[in-house]
Amino acid sequence: MTYDIIIIGAGPAGLAFARHFKDTDLQIAIIEKAPLDGIAHPAYDGREIALTHLSREIMLNLGAWQRIPDDEIYKLADAKVYNGDFSYALHFKVPKDLRLMSSIDRLGNLISNHNIRQAFYDEVKELANVKILTEQNVQDIKTDDKQATITLANGEKLTASLLIGADSRLSFVRKKLGIGAQMNDFGRTVIVFRVSHPLSNEATARECFLYGRTLALLPLHDHLTNCVITLDNTQTDTLLNMSGDELALEVQRMMGDQLGKLTLAGTVHHYPLMGVHANTFVSARSALIGDSAVGMHPVTAHGFNLGLMGANTLAKLVLDAHQQGQDIASAALLQKYNVRHQAHTRPLYHGTNLMVNLFTDDKKSMQALRDLTLRVSNHLPPVKRWISGQLTGK
Ligand SMILES: Cc1cc2nc3c(=O)[nH]c(=O)nc-3n(C[C@H](O)[C@H](O)[C@H](O)COP(=O)(O)OP(=O)(O)OC[C@H]3O[C@@H](n4cnc5c(N)ncnc54)[C@H](O)[C@@H]3O)c2cc1C
Repeated sequence: MTYDIIIIGAGPAGLAFARHFKDTDLQIAIIEKAPLDGIAHPAYDGREIALTHLSREIMLNLGAWQRIPDDEIYKLADAKVYNGDFSYALHFKVPKDLRLMSSIDRLGNLISNHNIRQAFYDEVKELANVKILTEQNVQDIKTDDKQATITLANGEKLTASLLIGADSRLSFVRKKLGIGAQMNDFGRTVIVFRVSHPLSNEATARECFLYGRTLALLPLHDHLTNCVITLDNTQTDTLLNMSGDELALEVQRMMGDQLGKLTLAGTVHHYPLMGVHANTFVSARSALIGDSAVGMHPVTAHGFNLGLMGANTLAKLVLDAHQQGQDIASAALLQKYNVRHQAHTRPLYHGTNLMVNLFTDDKKSMQALRDLTLRVSNHLPPVKRWISGQLTGK
């Protein structure tokens, strides 16, 4: 079978990329290893994705935002960062210039990951030029100047002008293309779950760098909050073995009763913490997008925002070339994508890792340095404006 584009991975990044080609004559195949049911009806996975205003615009253009029920788009008004305890916060609000000039009333929005995946799947499943092949294992990938060829486990060969790797952090595509990556195993696990509570969370996200553990509180409804605990792998089992009541009490204690008595509201999920940045996002006739290009530590909430941005950058270049009757996967086009997207990802990837190191090193001198950083930053408007700009995507 011959296609114009083959995308490996039907996660949100792969589906978002495919959706850009609605109303075109480009023929696209998405190859997914998971069964159809998990893609067509994604289950709640504990992740609440903080989306910038730029991501909202991209999702609106792709018809995905409109598919999310209004009461499942949660307002993220402000963000506060704490060090050690809750006595002092570095406070981020919507910058005045954005509030006045762009009528922006919030830093961003939170949407559950399964709702994002569902919205993109529902958009893509209706496209006549996109075929989703599930429960497929890719055995081999070969690319040359003319085409990319993939071989499936059943021996079938598919060729395309452009191959896209959208198959997550431990990307098989990246490996087969011979693209190296900088990988950072933080030796930590992130545990996520929702709690309900009697006091309002005031639509404020709280990032608390407690000693030994990090607790992020993401506001959903007024009395419903997503808890994100990151901790050393040696402590993970203790928390995961707790009953719902014990876990809720543990978080209540960690946050100093800020929201009153907590009750676990749903299932508990956990993920290993690993950051990945591919050395290049392109090779002959091929490109990486989403987490296979850059998988971020979730503390700065950039992973999927970068995934959407990268898919948007590459898709626009491909669409332009196609409209002008040019090669959709020329080396020059792919290199343009690589340079443009890396300009966004590299500073954020390294900046986030630096911040993680600063905020998770519990030596006394580092605790003092963190405290100083929060206090000084609070009085440096340009620094706060820059960070708020990253949070809003403006
Ligand atoms: C706890 C947590 C919180 C997060 N919070 C945020 C946030 O606030 N903001 C934000 O922007 N991001 C956040 N992220 C990151 C975000 O979830 C990811 O960036 C995003 O889900 C990546 O999408 P993706 O499509 O690249 O990869 P995935 O969602 O991993 O999808 C990859 C797909 O490829 C398929 N696949 C894998 N290998 C193969 C193969 N060999 N062949 C065929 N198919 C294959 C998989 O089955 C899957 O369907 C968070 C992540 C975590 C863990």
